[in-house]
Parts: sequence; C-alpha cells; structure tokens
Amino acid sequence: HDYTKDDIRQMVKDEDVKFLRLMFTDLFGTIKNVEVPITQLEKLLDNKLMFDGSSIEGFVRIEESDMYLYPDLSTWMIFPWSSERGKIARVICEVYTPAGKPFEGDPRNNLIRVLDDMKKAGFTSFNIGPEPEFFLFKMNENGEPTLNLNDKGSYFDMAPMDLGENCRREIVLTLEEMGFDVEAAHHEVAPGQHEIDFKYADALTAADNIQTFKLVVKTIARKYGLYATFMPKPLSGINGSGMHLNMSLFTDKGNAFYDESGELKLSKQAYNFLGGLLKHARAFTAICNPIVNSYKRLVPGYEAPVYVAWSGSNRSPLIRIPNARGNSTRLEVRSVDPAANPYLAIACMLEAGLDGLKNEIEPEDSVDRNIYRMDAEERQESHIKNLPDTLHNALKDLEADDVMKNALGTKLYQSFFEAKNLEYDSYRTQVSGWERDQYLELY
Ligand code: GLN
Ligand code: MG
Ligand code: MG
Ligand code: MG
Repeated sequence: HDYTKDDIRQMVKDEDVKFLRLMFTDLFGTIKNVEVPITQLEKLLDNKLMFDGSSIEGFVRIEESDMYLYPDLSTWMIFPWSSERGKIARVICEVYTPAGKPFEGDPRNNLIRVLDDMKKAGFTSFNIGPEPEFFLFKMNENGEPTLNLNDKGSYFDMAPMDLGENCRREIVLTLEEMGFDVEAAHHEVAPGQHEIDFKYADALTAADNIQTFKLVVKTIARKYGLYATFMPKPLSGINGSGMHLNMSLFTDKGNAFYDESGELKLSKQAYNFLGGLLKHARAFTAICNPIVNSYKRLVPGYEAPVYVAWSGSNRSPLIRIPNARGNSTRLEVRSVDPAANPYLAIACMLEAGLDGLKNEIEPEDSVDRNIYRMDAEERQESHIKNLPDTLHNALKDLEADDVMKNALGTKLYQSFFEAKNLEYDSYRTQVSGWERDQYLELY
C-alpha cells in the first residue's frame, strides 16, 4: 500500500489505535520492537523518533547509541489482535544515523542498497516466494516449550481432531486478515512439522513478510498452548525445517529467466544467474544457514541439500527449477533455513546472481540422477562440490569470497563474522551428552 501520512492519521483515528510498534531486524534476524504510545505518531511521521541502539546486536559501538527510526509507511498494518488497552499498529522502520544517513549495520538498509545496484543493472524487480517450515511443540504448565510434538501426522495428512491442524488454520486466517496471500498450508513430512507458503513479492516486501510471518506463527501457536520453532533441526533422526526461496528477476519486459526458445525454455540470463548462485553457494551458506544447528539439517537422508548442484527434474538438489514457465519461471534455492536473516540471505543471493550475469558465468551441467547414490569419485567427475558441513567451514568460505562480502557491506560482514566465530567457539568448547554417552565408560 502507498499510504500517505494523512492516510495513517485517518486510520489511527478510525480504528482508535493506542500503540505503535516500530519493527526492525537485527544482524541475527531477530525482530526488534520499539513500542511507543500513539502520542508519538507525529514525531514518527517526521522521522524524528530516536532510540538507543547500543543494546542491539550488531549495533554495539557507543557512537551508535543514538539512532533514528524512519518508518516505511507502506508496511503500516493494524494487528488483528489487540492489547487490553487498545489496538496496536506496527510499521517497519529503517535505522538512520543522527546525520540522516542510512545506518550500514541495518540489514534492511543493506538489502535496499543491493536492490539499487540491481536497478542500475537494468532490472525492475527481484521476486521471492518463500516456503517456511516450522515445528509445533507442546508447552508445559509454565508456558515453556517441551520436546513433545503434538501430533503423529505426516505429509499432507488430515487429522481432523488435531490441535496443530486447528492452530495452522488460525495462523492462515490471521495472515489473510493481515493482507497475506497464502498459497498453500500443509503438514510436512515430520510429525509436528508444518509449512505455509505465501505469494511471492518483491525482495524487500518478501523479507518483511517473512519476519511478520514468524511473529504471527509464534503468537497464534501460544494461544493453542503450542510453541512454534523455526530452529532448523530441533530433533535428530527426522527432517529439519527449511525455508526454500523461489526467485525470479524482472525487467520492464517481464520475467528475465524465461525464453521460449532457450534450453528448458530458460534464458541465457537464467543460466548466468544460476551460474552465479552455484559459484557463491558455499560462501552464502554461512548467511543462509547461520547457526550451529543449521548444519545438523544439511545431512543426507532428510530432503535437505548437501551438494552444490542443480536440476530441472530432480527435487533434491541445492537448486531446482520448478516446472512453471512464462512469468512464473523461477529458481528454487533449497538450502536456506528459517534461522537465516531474510534481508541478508536475499541480498547475498541477488548479488551472487548479478555476479553471474555480469561475468556471464556458465553453470555446470545439471545433475538429474540421485546424487546421494553417487560415490565421492563420481561426484568429483561431475564437478559436484559439497556444501560446508559446519558453521566454522562455512565462515571460511564466506571470508574468502569478496562478492559475498560486498553483498553484506563492510560493517555487517565484520560484525557477522566476529559474532559467528564466537558462537562456533562457544559450541566447540562444550562437552555434550553424546560424548559422555560414547566415551565415559569406554575409556
Ligand atoms: N524439510 C525439508 C528441508 O529440510 C524439505 C521438505 C520438502 O519441502 N520437500 O528442506
Ligand atoms: Mg514446499
Ligand atoms: Mg516443504
Ligand atoms: Mg520447495
């Protein structure tokens, strides 16, 4: 929506909005909220609303304490639920410095910057259709998540008496009230696991939608006594949760990936974009799979990708080309998980694709047989690399890739790299239950 300031003032009056929730996303993809009473509306509309950024991850330096929130009025939305004291509206904001410059440590500003580069390269939009998956766990009497799943369902199961089913339905209805166009909602392969797909949107809106989506899922699940988690692999031995991203690139003439006369009806630009994605795949893994636990999902046997390869027919590789053509022609990247910061993940994938276009990178041949049945030697003959197997190795690939570092900008890259190395070190130095089970009595 293209709301003006007056539209906003009118809606506040008509709906009697009492609180403003100003949302932005930190380096790690966590949604941050600054809630202010409606008396601050004029200040907000004038870009004069200040907040203390020093406590926010990735914003940590002292000189970064005074920051401003500039609202993106197109993201204005009144929550369908309200507090006891009245309605709450939210607006997504960009973080600005006191000097009136976009703050470089704000992942949303960074995506806007990369999208500007895309426009300079002659494209009008980069569209993203996400497929987020999540688990619903039961909560205990204290409202804490347990590891008990709430159903025994499986892919596309219908379990009419199922709490999870009802909860998912209410999530869908709430999303629709909030203006989401939900295309599919179904039970996933693992028990307690669900997927909700919403309609593609331009990259910035899609990233905003992913963040709003997570908030809605968690809020509604609580009403049902369930805890929704987007942790990539909450339980070993069953599938983890991914967030496949479908992507397409548009010019004012339409979908740049489609060519009636091209091989598989894909354009040269589609192949070059794909070539860029494949080239930078190992490096953007640190961003798309940003936590220690992400790498417990990227293992063989659970429908998550392990190798850098693409296919037009096979469903299991890193990048798949869904069947749709014409304006729906798209590439589906299947490694991304829902712990990823969507602004950073999308910026990296766009930059990787644009690098492919600029340098006319040709992708390796598609791999249409089951990669999981090939041995290491066969994979090597077909030039199939592995995705990184730990956060530590993924960070090494990121560090070695200047194109991906540019996609993040110096400040975001440095904060991310430092913080994630600390995270990995903290994990590495823990002694786990698995180790004691295996070794305590053996040695
Ligand atoms: N849950 C799988 C993953 O980790 C995907 C399953 C599917 O959507 N086919 O990516
Ligand atoms: Mg899906
Ligand atoms: Mg799925
Ligand atoms: Mg998919």
